[in-house]
Amino acid sequence: MTKIEVDQTLCLGCGMCCSMYPENFDFNENGLSSVINQEGAKKEMMDICPTQAIKVFEDTTSTEEAVKEHTNKTAAVEEKAIEDAVKDTTENTTNKKVETPTNKKVQVSNDEPIEATIPMAEEDNE
Ligand code: SF4
Repeated sequence: MTKIEVDQTLCLGCGMCCSMYPENFDFNENGLSSVINQEGAKKEMMDICPTQAIKVFEDTTSTEEAVKEHTNKTAAVEEKAIEDAVKDTTENTTNKKVETPTNKKVQVSNDEPIEATIPMAEEDNE
């Protein structure tokens, strides 16, 4: 967020900022300029002050920016956790014997063989 500040030690109270940007500056009880609204802050505001008392800058410590930064960090942590979980699952799956059912003809009597579904782990030695 772009932020405006007036250095009270440099302000002479000339009123240039108050007349050029009345929506952003006004005189305080000491007759010096104060910021009354941050909306519409722009770098050109610094140029009208004869004493360079006006500073316009990107404030990265604002609540909005802090929330955004926190959200990005949280998303990165969650993404890493998901990547690790997928990696673990993949390793566990590829390193383990997976048993799947298969169709196999099994001789259960002297008649014709019938088709049955049995797990691979229980294969008989016929
Ligand atoms: S232009 Fe600068 S010196 Fe003049 S009132 Fe504004 S901040 Fe103060």
